[in-house]
Amino acid sequence: MSDLPLFRHYIDGSFTPSRSGQRAPVVAPATGQVYAEVALGGAPEIDAAARAAKAALSGPWASMSPEQRWALLDRVADGIEARAQAFAQAESRDTGKPLSLSRAVDVPRAPANFRNYARLARGIGGDAWEQHLGEGARALHYTRHRPVGVVGVIVPWNLPLLLLTWKVAPALAMGNTVVAKPSEETPATATLLAEVFAEVGVPPGVFNVVHGAAAAGEALVTHPDVAAITFTGSTATGQRIQAASAPGLRKLSFELGGKNPALIFDDADFDAAVDGTVRSVFTNCGQVCLCSERVYVQASIYERFVEALVARARALRPGLPEDPATQLGPLISEAHRRKVLGAYERARAEGARVLCGGGVPTLSGPAAGGTFVEPTVIAGLSDASDTQQQEIFGPVCHVAPFSTEAEALQRANDTRYGLCAAVWTRDLSRAHRVAASIEAGIVWVNTWNLRELRAPFGGVKLSGSGREGGLWSLKFGTETQAISIRL
Ligand code: NAD
Repeated sequence: MSDLPLFRHYIDGSFTPSRSGQRAPVVAPATGQVYAEVALGGAPEIDAAARAAKAALSGPWASMSPEQRWALLDRVADGIEARAQAFAQAESRDTGKPLSLSRAVDVPRAPANFRNYARLARGIGGDAWEQHLGEGARALHYTRHRPVGVVGVIVPWNLPLLLLTWKVAPALAMGNTVVAKPSEETPATATLLAEVFAEVGVPPGVFNVVHGAAAAGEALVTHPDVAAITFTGSTATGQRIQAASAPGLRKLSFELGGKNPALIFDDADFDAAVDGTVRSVFTNCGQVCLCSERVYVQASIYERFVEALVARARALRPGLPEDPATQLGPLISEAHRRKVLGAYERARAEGARVLCGGGVPTLSGPAAGGTFVEPTVIAGLSDASDTQQQEIFGPVCHVAPFSTEAEALQRANDTRYGLCAAVWTRDLSRAHRVAASIEAGIVWVNTWNLRELRAPFGGVKLSGSGREGGLWSLKFGTETQAISIRL
């Protein structure tokens, strides 16, 4: 038994270790130090959580008015805000991301998710039709929304709190109950969130957290009491979940991987395009599903653009999360670093020119043990190369010149993925034309990752199915019931 703190499951209102006693070390990727352990759940914990969540569907949660439930979600938001500093520190310790990023993005988004969905849910109403049957007879048909039931939520390690709350809030706003399975690599903020749920008096069983790896996820997606699964993670895991959950015919929502293009036209605001591309490639060390990995630049500005991008990439300062000068954190784990360095090697083997980076930075002090890699820009590969087709999920992009708009579009769409794209141009007609022709769920023009929580979010092709955000997330958490009354 170690002296390290243990992140426990939160099931039916109680914090518990795994029945088997299984646990795994939790590593702070910025230093490589094991700082805690996490309980590893499996089928028994998922079963207990799913049963509790099912029972909660007919308990005090169900007897509350929707307004009472939404008020409780606002109190969850208040509870996160009251502990914002602890959430930010926990998120940065688990992921290695700069504290400035957790404070500015990840943590504020969590209460915003609860408030936003509690407010938006008020706008969900039904439809009604009066039918004339002849000879004075009439019928009334109307719809109402019922909760789907127990919603299974599975999230990855890159934006642990942001994505968890993005899925939990709409499910609860529509009266469902939740079993959440965070990533085994980043258990801290999900556990803090469970503490907030307990503190503000959300009834037991409404929100449950089962920590663990694939075994816990598999048990969740096949549990008979789980009616819907919302998953964010890799395409390969999404495909496994779709196959495993098929016999239960559950509702599924998938937000998966990407290989997102950025298109920079020669009429773009040059400095804004460079700034935006630095953000879109290197934010969170490239570990955002929305990051650009393929950058296409119009030939007339290609050299100048690449020079500016490389200079900015070289200047990015890696370091510890709590150092205010840090601009680039580590990758999530040694395993992921091996994958990203393997991708750098594969690019070289395919004949890429490495314009900057391509290796591991030399850092001193505690960061020397962290899983850092250099921000990297490569060039010279064909669109058909493995490097240009596979998601890397690190601080890296390939740059290539294009001549015409048609060529840029054809190359942007030459991928199995379709999550998002960034387009940089000052030509309004081109902006509309190009945006409409890109095969992606989200297109940003002259910006990147500008989020509006009411807007739909999701991908096409291998980047996912279904949409989340705004009414899309709320409707995912409902079954529409049709009622017909002969009057
Ligand atoms: P992952 O697919 O390995 O894991 C995601 C989650 O699924 C984890 O909680 C994991 O424990 C769980 N899991 C693993 N195997 C499972 C199984 N067989 N059944 C059920 N659950 C299982 O992904 P990751 O490495 O944690 O995250 C990185 C990936 O996530 C990247 O591909 C990235 O593009 C994608 N992502 C997509 C979005 C989006 O909105 N489209 C957002 C963030 C990340």
